[in-house]
Amino acid sequence: MSSVQYKALKGMQDILPPDIYIWQKVEAVAREVFSSYGFQEIRPPVVESTNVFTRSIGENTDIVEKEMYTFKDKGDRSISLRPEGTASVVRCYVEKNLHTMPSPQKFYYAGPMFRYERPQSGRFRQFYQIGVEAFGDPGPRIDAEVISMLRLCLERLGLREITFNVNSIGCPECRPAYRERLIEFFAGGLDRLCPDCNRRYHTNPLRILDCKVERCREMRKGAPRVTDHLCNGCRIHLDSLLSYLELMGISYTVNPDMVRGLDYYTRTTFEVTSENLGAQNAVAAGGRYDGLVKEFGGPETPAIGFAIGMERIIELLKNSVAYDFPTPDVFIAVIGALAARESMVIADRLRGKGLWAELGCSENSLKSQMRKADRLSSKYVFILGDDELNSGRLKWKKLSDSSQGEISMFEITDFLLQRSS
Ligand SMILES: [Zn+2]
Ligand SMILES: [Zn+2]
Repeated sequence: MSSVQYKALKGMQDILPPDIYIWQKVEAVAREVFSSYGFQEIRPPVVESTNVFTRSIGENTDIVEKEMYTFKDKGDRSISLRPEGTASVVRCYVEKNLHTMPSPQKFYYAGPMFRYERPQSGRFRQFYQIGVEAFGDPGPRIDAEVISMLRLCLERLGLREITFNVNSIGCPECRPAYRERLIEFFAGGLDRLCPDCNRRYHTNPLRILDCKVERCREMRKGAPRVTDHLCNGCRIHLDSLLSYLELMGISYTVNPDMVRGLDYYTRTTFEVTSENLGAQNAVAAGGRYDGLVKEFGGPETPAIGFAIGMERIIELLKNSVAYDFPTPDVFIAVIGALAARESMVIADRLRGKGLWAELGCSENSLKSQMRKADRLSSKYVFILGDDELNSGRLKWKKLSDSSQGEISMFEITDFLLQRSS
């Protein structure tokens, strides 16, 4: 006998009923909404060559520096579990020549991502995202469409207390000059910035703007705003995006501090936040990445995408929306061996019609079978014994209101189908 206790790894969670039904709901709604915008599913693998991620996400980002699950495989190749979805999709887009499909090419993916982070509330080392990527359209109309698609998803899930934060972080034409302005601004105050921001100062000073450390927040008051330093093209892009959002009745806040933690973004970035989620409050985020396909060796291709953080949205839904979890349509309680045999035939027929049927066990008393039906929250209970087999009629009981009645054996399926929905 072994006394080893097996436990899930730190930061890894088991997703179980009834929560799993909320997960399925979110996935189903996302698929439905994405499809109506013409997005098609693709399923890239969860492991890639490490350089797929270092190249795209950026060598100096927290993700690549601290959080990636990177291993040597048996062929001594450096491989990594994907920490996010976009890099894999872009690798696939270039490798499989997806730019030859009619433009824009619109894809979505869903699945687990991996980051070796300090586990904390709502954050896991294996976490799930549903994301979309649209290639080949420079925007800003597609930017607005993608944002409106995200809104429709959240609305259909019952979430309304949400805010869209929108920003433009410029392009290769205007960002270098803005970057210089930031470097000048922070030059005199490096000792007051956190160690991470001191590093960012040299690698990507824009990221100081979304540091959560209080003294960095304090220090950046009065910093030059990216929205005041956009080139003409970026300015027009942002203004038209905002006017499209207004046209579609999407309320937004322009937030110049929202720069996102990935190096590949250009122009539009956005985030959806909810007040109910506290510090880690973005439930979905995305942006434009016009240079990334080329970076991967593909043709010059503008692109935009977003990802929904499943754990956060599930947490939010659990706190704010009431869901009915599925329960059996019927529990057939049986008395005697003959009824037990017949109940299997009846249950099979019901299951063939898509109904959830559970069977009692004739060795158990009727009372204990009824208790089990109750624990399963079965909608109806049928009682089947020798008398019922002889008469061809059986008793039903509805557990929610204790109403009862009698029907013919032949009517069972129709009876339940009419009452299940
Ligand atoms: Zn620009
Ligand atoms: Zn900082």
